[in-house]
Formats: sequence, structure tokens, C-alpha cells
Amino acid sequence: MTELPSADPAEQGRPPAGAARRLLLVHAHPDDESINNGATMARYAAEGARVTLVTCTLGERGEVIPPGLRHLTGAALGEHRLGELTAAARALGVEDVRLLGGPGRYGDSGMMGIPDNEDPDCFWQADLDEAAAHLVRVILEVRPQVVVAYDDNGGYGHPDHIQAHRVAMRAVDLAAQAGWSVPKVYWNRVPRTVAEDAFAGLGKALADLPFTAAATVGDVPGVVADERITTAIDGTAFAAAKTAAMRAHATQIEVAPDAPYFALSNELAQPLFTTEYYELVRGARGEERETDLFAGLAGTSGEETS
Ligand SMILES: [Zn+2]
Repeated sequence: MTELPSADPAEQGRPPAGAARRLLLVHAHPDDESINNGATMARYAAEGARVTLVTCTLGERGEVIPPGLRHLTGAALGEHRLGELTAAARALGVEDVRLLGGPGRYGDSGMMGIPDNEDPDCFWQADLDEAAAHLVRVILEVRPQVVVAYDDNGGYGHPDHIQAHRVAMRAVDLAAQAGWSVPKVYWNRVPRTVAEDAFAGLGKALADLPFTAAATVGDVPGVVADERITTAIDGTAFAAAKTAAMRAHATQIEVAPDAPYFALSNELAQPLFTTEYYELVRGARGEERETDLFAGLAGTSGEETS
């Protein structure tokens, strides 16, 4: 039985410290934040919102791309990736970065179906309420109006991404009981037609890219029918920040020099999206097609629940 943290009663009814708009993102590994939400994070940070990133593992089972860094494995890779995460956050202008339960608390589980999934220290094996309790503490401290997470398949079925989804949704529920009801929760998405158009463009551009083959729409996490998209965040003005943040994750990502494409360790080219898409799954839509995650939150004061 995990003890549920409670909000300090002395804090009840007082306006939260700091920025009026507060965005919390939950990710599985260092690099996921930059790939999925880099432009969104850079935009809101630049606009003065408080952007808090919670990363659940250090990704120490990730495959390393640069040959010169392939000696890094296990804890050494985790430490290196923490440095990459710090550099990426700096590129995005994001100051509040936390590791769930502290650095190294939860180990990378590796891809689905491998024996690493059974390591008792891996995130996939974590007790859900215990892991969620770490995030509840952050939610009660930051009081975000908006939480961004993955869908229930983790976007593409990776155990750590599925677990990050479960932890985020559970923590939102527990935080509501403990004093802070998050007004809006979103899942990371890519509209199918946007993905298809981008891959059509990639097919034409591939000959000039440093990658020999292209991924497919099926390799992109979170692709759904366009009708499910509630929100598009135009981060075109922050393309350079997103690209720099992705480059900071050099062990995991290779970004094309002059084109909006990148590859992971499978060396398959993918489009780099600077408009980022979301599906609102909790809370009221601010407008028919939102262009702001905080849309409809008058005064963005948030919602006390006790
Ligand atoms: Zn990941």
C-alpha cells in the first residue's frame, strides 16, 4: 500500500507560485520529449509558461547510433543520456526537468517481448501506485492546467511508453483526490493524412538524405484518423530549437543536416514535425480546432479540489 501524498493544507486556496500557465509532460525516455513535443515545449517556454518535463527512465537500454559512443551501455549510457536530456531542455528553454522518483529509480525495460522486461527494477515491472505517487507529488507542487501523455498503447507499444501512460493517467486521478484536478489532459497524436503527406515528401527527398531507406507511417507513434485530433500547436517558429534539442540526443537520433528528417537507431528516415498534434482526452475543448493547449481555461487559475 503506497501512501498518497497530500497537498499542504497551508497551500490550499493560495494562488500557485510562478507562471500562470503550467504545462506538465510525461515521457518514457530521454529523447521522446524532443521528438514528440519539442516545438510545443519551446513555444510555451518562450511565452513564459512553466514547462515541467517528467521523464520516467534514463533509457539505458537504448541502441547507440554513433560508433564512437557505442562503448556506453547500462548505467554509463543512462548517465550520458541524462546529459543529453539536460542539453535538449536547454535548447528548448525548459528549466524544470525531473526523473520520476529521481535519476535511475526506474530502469529502461527495453522493447516489448525481451527478457529485460522481467527485470524487477525496470519500469515495466514498477508498482503502478508507487510510480504514480512520485508523479502526484510533482502535480501537487506544480499544479499544471495541462498534462500531456501517451495513449494507452504508449503510442507504439513500447513497454515504458505504455507504463508512462498508465502512470500519468493514474497520477492525474490520484492528484484530483489529493487537492489538484488537472483541467486538461492530452495524448500525443499525429493525424494520418499529415503523416501520409510527410512520408510522400520524404520519398521524393530520400535520395538527398544521409539515410538509405524510409520508415513508414506505421513506425510513427500516435498516428490516428484526422477526426480525433483536437489540437494543433504550430511550432514552426521553434523548428530550430526542436532540431537542436533532437541533435542533443546524439546517441539516439540522427537529424538530417538541412532537411526536416531524422532517423533513430534503425536508420530509417522519418519526417520531423514542427506542428505537433494532440487529442484532448479529459477536460472541455476550448474551441472546435484548438491552437493552444490552454484554450478555454479562463485566467488559467486551475482547479482546486479540496
Ligand atoms: Zn521512448
